[in-house]
Amino acid sequence: MMKKALALPALLLALILAGCTNGGEFTRSEMNKKLKALANNLIPVIETPGAMCYSVVMLTPVACVCDSCGEEAAIDGWVYDSIDTIRTIVSDIKAEGHDVFLEVDTLCENCSEEGKPVLRVSFGIKFADDTDYHMSESTIPSDYRVLLAFLRGERSYKDEYDAVVALKEEERAVIKKMTGLTYGK
Ligand SMILES: [Zn+2]
Repeated sequence: MMKKALALPALLLALILAGCTNGGEFTRSEMNKKLKALANNLIPVIETPGAMCYSVVMLTPVACVCDSCGEEAAIDGWVYDSIDTIRTIVSDIKAEGHDVFLEVDTLCENCSEEGKPVLRVSFGIKFADDTDYHMSESTIPSDYRVLLAFLRGERSYKDEYDAVVALKEEERAVIKKMTGLTYGK
């Protein structure tokens, strides 16, 4: 008898708990609050320099196919590598439970506005209370590193040379560009 009496309240509690965790943490309003808290946190972040020695590697162009006309598009090796890095970071953002996607378009010199072969990278993110994706364009891996750190609740990020960099105003501007979060300037 006791077991039956307890079953319903337990089920209700489970449903309530499930409702609370169902994306509630990642609403736009909640993330705005987190960005505001980041801006208002006056405890200094200790920044550390990264490795000073690095070699400049001249990467050979990578032969890609233009998504618009099907012709060959020779993409700069380092640009191609950057996009690979961005793909990895975006998977990490996804692994944090965020609804994000990356779209990469290859355009040859005839189809791109720049008059040279390019990779156009569109990033979309949708918070739990959003009706649509917020879209932005960036081919800079650091932009995605900054965003991942913020979404993880961190106050600094590691750049490509392993330097620890605080999420200052400049980085918060990147977060706003990538997410459309609106707190402050
Ligand atoms: Zn083309």
